[in-house]
Amino acid sequence: MSIPLTIVAPRSLRRLSVILGLFTLIASVGSFSGWVLDLPRLTSWLASEMSIQPNTTVLIALASIALLLIQYGYSRSTLVLGALVALGGGLNLLQYMLNMDFGFNHQLLFAREWGHAGTLTPGRFGPPASIAFVLIGMSLMVLGLRDVSARRYVSALALVVVLLMGFSLLGYLFGARDFYAIPWLSAIALPSAIMLMALAVNLIISVPQHQPMLLLCERSSAGSMARTVLPILIIMIPLFIWLRTKGYELGLFDIGTSRALGAAMLMLGVISLMWIALLALRRREQREREADRRKDEFIATLAHELRNPLAPISNAVSMLKLAQGNAEIFSRATEMIERQAAHLVRLVDDLLDLSRISRGKMELRRKHIELVSVIHQAVETCSLGVEAAAQELIVELPAQPIYLHADPVRLAQVVSNLLSNACKFAGQHGCIKLAVERSGEDVLITVKDNGIGIPPDLLGFIFEMFAQVDQSLERSQSGLGIGLTLAKQLIELHDGSIEARSEGVGKGSEFVIRLPITIDQDASPAELQHLNGTNVKSRILIVDDNLDSAQSLSEVLSLGGSETFVAHDGEAAVAAAERLRPDVILLDIGLPKLNGFDACRRIRENQWAKNILIIALTGWGQEEDRRKSSEAGFDVHLVKPVSVTELLNLLARSPQRNNLDR
Ligand code: ADP
Repeated sequence: MSIPLTIVAPRSLRRLSVILGLFTLIASVGSFSGWVLDLPRLTSWLASEMSIQPNTTVLIALASIALLLIQYGYSRSTLVLGALVALGGGLNLLQYMLNMDFGFNHQLLFAREWGHAGTLTPGRFGPPASIAFVLIGMSLMVLGLRDVSARRYVSALALVVVLLMGFSLLGYLFGARDFYAIPWLSAIALPSAIMLMALAVNLIISVPQHQPMLLLCERSSAGSMARTVLPILIIMIPLFIWLRTKGYELGLFDIGTSRALGAAMLMLGVISLMWIALLALRRREQREREADRRKDEFIATLAHELRNPLAPISNAVSMLKLAQGNAEIFSRATEMIERQAAHLVRLVDDLLDLSRISRGKMELRRKHIELVSVIHQAVETCSLGVEAAAQELIVELPAQPIYLHADPVRLAQVVSNLLSNACKFAGQHGCIKLAVERSGEDVLITVKDNGIGIPPDLLGFIFEMFAQVDQSLERSQSGLGIGLTLAKQLIELHDGSIEARSEGVGKGSEFVIRLPITIDQDASPAELQHLNGTNVKSRILIVDDNLDSAQSLSEVLSLGGSETFVAHDGEAAVAAAERLRPDVILLDIGLPKLNGFDACRRIRENQWAKNILIIALTGWGQEEDRRKSSEAGFDVHLVKPVSVTELLNLLARSPQRNNLDR
C-alpha cells in the first residue's frame, strides 16, 4: 500500500462523475418531457428560439447512463450504449455529408409545431452535436473495452468535444449567431451544448490516470498551479469580455473606452493570476526550506536521542567489568542494557517505518481482528511508564466486541504511541483516559490526558514530521517528533483519521482516532477465524470480467491464506486453468470471448480437471440457471452478491471436489 500521489481521492472523482452523470440524465429526460408535454420552455432554457431536439435528448440520456454504469463497473453495458450513441451521431452526420434525409428525425417530435428553428429537417440535430455524439460514443466504447491502454485516447476525444461546445457556448454568451445558429454548420441549442459539455467533462474525469486529470490531481507544485490557474482563466477571460461588451451595449461608455477597459481588465487579471501563481510557488519554496530546517534540527535531536541510551549502556558495561561476580550488580547492569537497547531499537524502528511510509513501501498486514485485544496489547506496552510516573490510567471499553479489518501490530503501535505521549506529557500523578466506543459506522479510540496540553495554533502542526511543541534541545521530554507523523500515516493507510484536541497550554490533550468498521459485527469468532484463513488454503482461479470485483475477491481470499489467480475472459480462464491447475475455480457466467458455461465445459473435458471444484458466480439464480450450470459441469452455483463468509465456509468445508457435500 502506498501513499497516494494524487491530492484528489478516487472516491471524490467518482462522486463528481456520478453527479455530472445524474445532471445530464435528469436534464435530458426533462427536456424530452418538454416535447411529450408540449412545454417548449423545457427544451430551450433561455427562451431562445432554438430547442434541443428529442433525438439529442435520447442520445444524451444513453451516454449519461453509460457514464453512470462505468462507475459501477458495468463495462459491457457501457460498450453497447457507447456504440448506440456513436451510431446515432454518425448516421445524423452522414445525412449532412450526403445531403440526404434518412427519415429517422421526426418520430419523437409528437407533431409539435415549435422548436424547428436551426434544423434543416424538423427533429434533425445539428452538425456540432452529431460530431460530439460520435466522439462521445467512441470514448464510451473505449471505456467499455477491457484494453486499459486505449483509455488514454478518451480524454483526447472528449477534449475535442469540450472545444466544440466551448465555441457554441461562447457564441451564446456573446450573441455570435454564426457560432450556434447556421443550420448546416453550427446549429446547436443551448441545452444541448451545456449537456454535451458536461458529458465531455465527465468523460475526462472518468480517466484520472491520464492527462489532463493526471496533472490536475497531482500532489505537486505543477498540479496545485494547474488547479488554481485553469478554472480562473476559463472563467475570467469570457467574463471580462462579456462585462466590457455589456457596458458598451448599455451605453455606459463608447467603443474606444470599452476596448481600453477590456485590455486593462485582461492585463490586470492575467498579472494578478501570475502573481497568485508566483506567491504559491514562493510559499512552497518556504515550506520546503522550513522542512529542510526541521530536518537539520531533527538530525541534531537524533544524535542527542541516540546518545542518551549510550551513556547508561557504557556505564552498565563499566559496572559489569567491576561487578566481580556480584549477582545483584550483574542483573541491574544487564537489565539496564536491555532497557536501553529496547529504547534504541524502538527509535530505529520508528525511523525505518517513517522512511518506508514516505517511499510508499509500508505494507499493512490486515486481518479480521477484535479491537479490544489490540488495545490490551498497547496498554501493556505502556504500563511500566504509567506505573513509574504514578499515573492513573482509566480504560473504558465497549460492552460488545468490535471487529475490524486492520493490521493489529500497526494499530497497537499507534495506540501505544498515543499512550506513551500521554504518559510523557501528563507528568507525575497525571491522569490518562483511554476510551473505545462505536459511533455509527466507525469506531472512536480516544486517548486523553490532563497534562501540559498543546497551544491551539499547533494542533495541526504536531502531526508533521519532526514537529515538537518544545523545540529546545534541553527540553525535559525526549523524543524525535515522528511518533504522531507515523500514527497519522498508519491510521490513514487504514482509511481512518486522527485528530488532536486541547483547550490550550496546561489544559491537557486529547487524541481521537476514527476507524471505519468494515466487517459484519455479528460474525462469530469461528467465522472470523475462517476469514483470517486459518482453514482455507487453496489455489484459486477467479474469473470475472469486472476487474474490480475479481481483484477485490482475490485480495480477500489471499488474506485468507489462499494463492489466487485472476482471469478476465472465458478463453483466458481455460488457458489459466490448464497452466495453473488450481484447486478451485470461481467462474463468472457472462464473460467475453467464451461464456462461463462453455469455459467450464472446456475445462472439464480434461483429465486433470476432474477434481477441480468449479463454482459458478452469477447474477442468475433461477432453477433453470442452476440446471444449466450443473449440466455445464459446475459443482456449485452461487448467486451474486456472494457473502465472503459463505464462500469461505464453502471452501473451508472442502477445497476438493470429491469431498464436497453438495
Ligand atoms: P515526540 O513525542 O517523539 O516528540 P510525537 O510526534 O509523538 O513526537 O509528538 C510530537 C509533539 O506533539 C510532541 O513533541 C509534543 O510537543 C506534542 N504532543 C504529543 N502528544 C502530546 C500530549 N499528549 N500532550 C501534549 N503534547 C503532546
